[in-house]
Amino acid sequence: MFIIEAIAFTFFGACIGSFLNVCIFRLPRNQSIITPGSFCRNCKTPIKWHDNIPMFSYIFLKGRCRNCKERISIRYPFVELITAVLFLALYLKFGFSIELVKYCFLFSLLIMVSFIDIDYHAIPAHLCFLGIVFGLAISVFSSLELLKTGGFEPKTLPIVRSGIGLLFGFGFTYMFKFFGDIGIDIYLKLRKKESIEGETESLGLGDVDFMGMVGVYLGVPSALVWGPVVSVLLVFFLAPFFAMVYSVIALIFKKSHLIPYLPYLSLATLAVFFWGEEILKFVSRLILI
Ligand SMILES: [Zn+2]
Repeated sequence: MFIIEAIAFTFFGACIGSFLNVCIFRLPRNQSIITPGSFCRNCKTPIKWHDNIPMFSYIFLKGRCRNCKERISIRYPFVELITAVLFLALYLKFGFSIELVKYCFLFSLLIMVSFIDIDYHAIPAHLCFLGIVFGLAISVFSSLELLKTGGFEPKTLPIVRSGIGLLFGFGFTYMFKFFGDIGIDIYLKLRKKESIEGETESLGLGDVDFMGMVGVYLGVPSALVWGPVVSVLLVFFLAPFFAMVYSVIALIFKKSHLIPYLPYLSLATLAVFFWGEEILKFVSRLILI
């Protein structure tokens, strides 16, 4: 029974991934994500349901449109695959529970903002806001459940933790952006340049919203009430390491140094979500030495 449930939920994840592909393409263009149904970008033929099965159709159709034989980007099955894998990981961690809903929502948003950021170097402002509202709503719900049982401490209520995380995520990142922007400003004036490859900001406001969202959802358990604060710090300082790996690759292949930052913040969020405790232990050992 368990295996059937796990397989079914993984496939459900792939279907959500397919929907995320639609959102990634249409949301930045201000198009409806409901209608019309999927169609081929090249020949505009509507895609039949049996040619629109997540991951499998791409394999059966050998990555080409059935009608015009135009290549379909490998990115579509890739997004479906990572969504499916992440949903399976969450199912194995939480089983069917409110946490499963909460983090499936967060991870879907992470995938969406990452790919939109890769395409546009910006994301629709309401996406992280939606994530924050949804996360807070779940925290209120979980807090009410705890209040019913009575066995709780006010400081450890989910909504208190989420609130602290939200404020810290916003505040810390905004402060960093504020001083970072001043630093870049001074650098540009000294070098008498207009921008660094067209960029004049240290962090975008999208990054600030994103870190507020991280604070709502994440909290390293052993740090108790400061769990969300620790999580925000870990994500913030871990992301540059992921970005560094890309920069080295970009240097080798002589691509632009301008990097969308949200994919790295998303990767760091995933790492802190799954291995937050281990990373915290590792960091505190480094500090103590
Ligand atoms: Zn076609």
